[in-house]
Amino acid sequence: MSHPSMPSDLLRAAEHAKGFMPREEGLALFEAACSYGPRGPICEIGTYCGKSAIYLGAAARRTGSVVVTVDHHRGSEEIQPGWAHHDPTLVDPRFGKMDSLPAFRTAIASAGLEEEVVAIVGRSERVAALWNTPLGLLFIDGGHSEEPVTRDYEGWAPHVVVGGALVFHDIYPDPADGGQAPYGVYLRALASGAFEEVAVTGSLRVLERVAPGI
Ligand code: SAH
Ligand code: MG
Repeated sequence: MSHPSMPSDLLRAAEHAKGFMPREEGLALFEAACSYGPRGPICEIGTYCGKSAIYLGAAARRTGSVVVTVDHHRGSEEIQPGWAHHDPTLVDPRFGKMDSLPAFRTAIASAGLEEEVVAIVGRSERVAALWNTPLGLLFIDGGHSEEPVTRDYEGWAPHVVVGGALVFHDIYPDPADGGQAPYGVYLRALASGAFEEVAVTGSLRVLERVAPGI
């Protein structure tokens, strides 16, 4: 695989955005999206403040693809008040709820990627029920507990084309490093025989679809 490089202005924008995507993993995501973006649209589950969407958007620009990113913007369990990853500046006091949508909009506008990155605001399972477009790359980084990550896999992975990619974030084979639900679903994807692992960077895993089904 050749190694495309991410334009420095977009890399700066990604590093400046809030989020949970270390640079190394972000660049691996960018590379994967450069490889698989030509096969179809890129879909992200779990937008948060747009950090990973900037890496994906950079690849969409390069390959003439597009990123659709889905989030209700009300935060996962682990980012609610009282939890380790909570950011109090992301609470909308009018509703007493998290709202990462304004930060996302700022990040994507600052990066100049409004043409490449399309946001869908809603629950992943609601949107999955309406979805019918084959995907070149699916990035699963939404709710990280058992039920949401299973639903995201079952609802979205069937849309990945043969020759396209399914990418997981926060894969921790050792429970000491993090939650096990995404890891369990990742193992399930491999066991299905429909996906083969092609790249590993930190907690990011890139699987290529080699056969239909999940
Ligand atoms: N990809 C981002 C981080 C995503 S954090 C980055 O790298 O910067 C996980 C996100 O998933 C949160 O913003 C949360 O609101 C969203 N989320 C969790 N469960 C969801 C669901 N069922 N539907 C839509 N979004 C969900
Ligand atoms: Mg993540």
